[in-house]
Amino acid sequence: MKMRAVVVREIGSFEITEVPLRDIRDDEVSIQVEVTGLCRTDLKLIRVGHRDLTLPRIPGEEVVGVIRKTGGAAGSFREGDRVYVYPGVWCGECPSCRRGAENLCRGMEIMGFHRDGGFAEYVIAPVQSLLPVPEGLAPELAVFAEPLSCCLNALELARLGEGETLGIWGAGPAGALLHRAARAMGAHPFCIDPDPRRHQRMMGAGARDGRTFDVCIVAVGAVAAYEDALGALNPRGRLVVFSGLHPSEDRLPVSFNQLHYYEQTLVGAYGCQFRHGRRALDLIASGEVPVADLISHRLPLEKLEEGLDIVANRGGMKVHLYP
Ligand SMILES: [Zn+2]
Repeated sequence: MKMRAVVVREIGSFEITEVPLRDIRDDEVSIQVEVTGLCRTDLKLIRVGHRDLTLPRIPGEEVVGVIRKTGGAAGSFREGDRVYVYPGVWCGECPSCRRGAENLCRGMEIMGFHRDGGFAEYVIAPVQSLLPVPEGLAPELAVFAEPLSCCLNALELARLGEGETLGIWGAGPAGALLHRAARAMGAHPFCIDPDPRRHQRMMGAGARDGRTFDVCIVAVGAVAAYEDALGALNPRGRLVVFSGLHPSEDRLPVSFNQLHYYEQTLVGAYGCQFRHGRRALDLIASGEVPVADLISHRLPLEKLEEGLDIVANRGGMKVHLYP
């Protein structure tokens, strides 16, 4: 069987072509992709490369679709079920997996990075990574479970408490999801973004104007944002390293005396755990974290280049592809 797919053979370019769909193993299912989210990571992966990328590769790590074929060991999943795919496949045995941080598994294989992803008509995923989409939840809303899961992981690692203040650098899709998830948790979020177009889209975004916060999360890959966030931490404040930086500029001066005297913490956050997907789907389905208004562009697979430009120029909010 053949399918249409985006294939990256070398960094900086891709082709949209027919590729064979391989056979599934017993513990896998074949999923017809209904919607796949485009994020800055895909832009980076295709145009710049990424630490975890192996080639050739079909990208796409935000996927919702319908199971079309099951292996012999699909558990409770049936053909016709709509599922959200957690992008990771983990070993379950290494120290990170045993402590419940499977996103840091030493054998981690991420869909769209180490395994083929959702920029295609079909994706093959292990049953281990599937979550049923709640009844009545539209696929294009359910697919926000992936980026929202990453936000939940960051907020959890930051130990954000009810009533605390949160500064979010970047009012793009990730910043907006962090903002809404934090509000659902009873915290007081504020988005900082220099782009006035994003202020209009994001209620309550603006300049920092001397504000300080209990938690700062940098959701934009800019050194200047990290420097600003470091200076905006309250005593006992936590700064979350949510966005990666270009390898050529990933070292910046940090005052250790500041951390010492004010008991502040730097904490890294990368990806999410499987359980965050369940919580994210619940938050979306219940309306506690609204997402529908964040979709700015709906494109066919053939318009991926256009979608990447929109992400690169910050010309929209969330861009979805419908293979
Ligand atoms: Zn592991």
